This record gives sequence, structure tokens and C-alpha cells, in this order.
Amino acid sequence: MKIGCPTEVKPQEFRVGMTPAAAQEAAARGHEVLIQTGAGAGSGFADADYVAAGATILDTAAEIFAAADMIVKVKEPQAPERKMLREGQVLFTYLHLAPDPEQTRDLLASGCTAIAYETVTDRNGTLPLLAPMSEVAGRLAPQSGAWALQKANGGSGVLLGGVPGVRPANVAIIGGGVVGTAAARVAVGMGANVTVLDRSVPRLSYLDDVFMGRLTTQYSDKGAVEDLLPRMDMVIGAVLIPGAAAPKLVSRAQLATMKPGSVLVDVAIDQGGCFETSRPTTHQDPIYDVDGIMHYCVANMPGAVARTSTIALGNATLPFLLALADKGWKQACADDEHLLAGLNVHAGKLTYYAVGKALGIDV
Ligand code: NAD
Repeated sequence: MKIGCPTEVKPQEFRVGMTPAAAQEAAARGHEVLIQTGAGAGSGFADADYVAAGATILDTAAEIFAAADMIVKVKEPQAPERKMLREGQVLFTYLHLAPDPEQTRDLLASGCTAIAYETVTDRNGTLPLLAPMSEVAGRLAPQSGAWALQKANGGSGVLLGGVPGVRPANVAIIGGGVVGTAAARVAVGMGANVTVLDRSVPRLSYLDDVFMGRLTTQYSDKGAVEDLLPRMDMVIGAVLIPGAAAPKLVSRAQLATMKPGSVLVDVAIDQGGCFETSRPTTHQDPIYDVDGIMHYCVANMPGAVARTSTIALGNATLPFLLALADKGWKQACADDEHLLAGLNVHAGKLTYYAVGKALGIDV
């Protein structure tokens, strides 16, 4: 199969759909791998790395789209890319179609077969191609929050780990899933005094077990959040209610109960945010102040560490990518119900119920 990987064109996107390691695996199985020149540059991979892996470098996205049987990307195809998709071509990437009727219409019109990373499942019922990005965002959250806590950035001037004789910062993490656990690992490692809140008692029990007393767990209800806010230096929002907007867990009025210069890091901003005062920010301008409380609400946190994110995503997508290339999408999906769960569009038809329901299109 001819596998094509174009350079990402969405603004501020530095990741790439295939690493040289993935190209090498595919080439070793007899597939022809076509990479657009410069596609890996933002993640620290040179054209020469791909050539050494057995791939061919092409100059333009148009050449990649024209030649490839399957396109492998990171972000959803942008309008000019969608025009280049064709009937029978497989697209394997993040799509997030439910809030995006324009993209959905274009994919349906193209006749392509689109498999979305974010709806591929695993046997635990979780989402293995979303988890690596949550791992990254979670680990970044305390690091970004610690930067915002610095005086020059508008924060209270508290050092996360304290020093001998000076207490460490208090950090609350609301939501103890993939993001929350990764955030807890880094915040604990930086020496902060960490409390994780969740609505799932089994999850709190798991965290209590694995962290062995190095953090405190607390059931997440209104009273618990209210009680913690005045004592916290940093609050990390990491909740998810699948398929729904994030619940608002801290109101504007409650900011007044917090210490001036404290920091809110809203990782759940891509689902609307879990603090009333959150609005999406960018890596160029990541923080803002509301009533003396610093907010960090970057919607694509993994983009800050494109190299790590690209490799982590590539590790997770590779087995699926190879199955699609080796067997063709039909047989690969017939053999693996979890990959089949990723099928969103085929030959002008929507094939994913939740997307159809959200957009009012027959599935
Ligand atoms: P997850 O499903 O692994 O974990 C979510 C946790 O939130 C669950 O344990 C759940 O029990 C808990 N929860 C739900 N409601 C709660 C409440 N009211 N109080 C406390 N806990 C509650 O999800 P995840 O992978 O950890 O993702 C968390 C959020 O981070 C999602 O919104 C996701 O989209 C977002 N995310 C953002 C970025 C970014 O760049 N900003 C990157 C990756 C993930």
C-alpha cells in the first residue's frame, strides 16, 4: 500500500502523523511510504531520517494526496486538504466531527473512508489514541502552573516544592483520570502538597494505592471544592464527562475566596473548561488574570512538546496503521472491533452514531 504523510497545516501544529520509526516498520513490510518534505521538522525529524527509514520524500501535499492509498495525519484535514481527498482513499487521523459540520460535509462529499483516532477503543473501554495526549497534557499542567505562579508572570511567587523550612505549595487536581493521574505524578515529584478529587470512588482508591500516601484523595462535591479553594496555590481542572461539555466546578464568585496570585490550570478547556472564568488561550499568550487569579487554558497543550507528543502518538497509532496497511481497511476493521469503532465516514455515509446524532445526519 502507498501510505502518505503530509505536513500539518493547522496553525501552531508541530506534530507529524508518522515518525521515521513508523516509516521504517511500514517500509519493512513492503509498503511504500511517502512523506512531504519538512513534515517532521517541527518534531525534530529531518527528511534524511525518513529517507534512511526507507521512505520517499515528495515536495507538496498535492503529490502526497494524489499518490497515496492511505493518508496518515495528526489534526483533522483542513479545507484545502479535504478538497484533495478522493473516493476509496483511507484517512487515519484525529477528526472530532461532532462539533464540525463543515468538515463532516466535505468528508462525506469526498467519498473517502475516514477512521478517527479519537473513537478507536480498547478492551477496557478507554480510548487508546487519546490517552497519550492526556498523559502529555497532565504532565505539563503542574509545570505550566508553576511558571504562572512565578511573580513576574502575575502569580503569587510561591515555589511548588518549597525549600527546607518553607512549606511547599498546595495543589488540588479535580478529576483523577489519565490527565489527573499524570498531573499528580509530576506535582508530587516537584514536591507539592497534592490533593486529588474525583467522583469515582474506585478511581480514588486506585490513586490512594499507587501513590502510597504521597497525596491525599477526596470525594469531589461542591463542599469539598469550596473548602479547598482558600488554601490552594494551584487548582488543575482535569474532569471529563464523555460526550458532554465539562461541568463548571469553580464559579467567578469563588475566585474571591482564593489567595491572590493563585493559579487555575484548566486542562478540560477543550471540552469548554471546568472553571466559569476559563476561555481558550494559545501557547503564544497562555495566561490571563481574572480578579487576581491567574488562568492557564491552552487548548492544545501537547503542541508545546511536539517531539514527545509525536513519538507518544506514533507509538499508539502504529499497530492500527500497520493493520490498515497490511490488510486493507475492510479486513482490518472486520478483524478488530476496536479499530472498527474508529470508522466515522465511508463512501459518502456517516458511520458513527454519536456524530450523526450531534449533527442530525442519518447514520
Ligand atoms: P478521563 O476520562 O481519563 O478522566 C476524567 C476523570 O474526571 C474521571 O476519573 C472522572 O471520574 C472524573 N470526573 C468527572 N466529573 C467529575 C467531577 N465533577 N469532579 C471530579 N472528577 C470528575 O479523561 P482525561 O483523559 O483525563 O481527560 C480530562 C480532560 O482533559 C478532558 O476534558 C480532555 O479532553 C482534556 N484534555 C485536554 C488537553 C489540552 O491540551 N488542553 C489534552 C488532553 C486532554
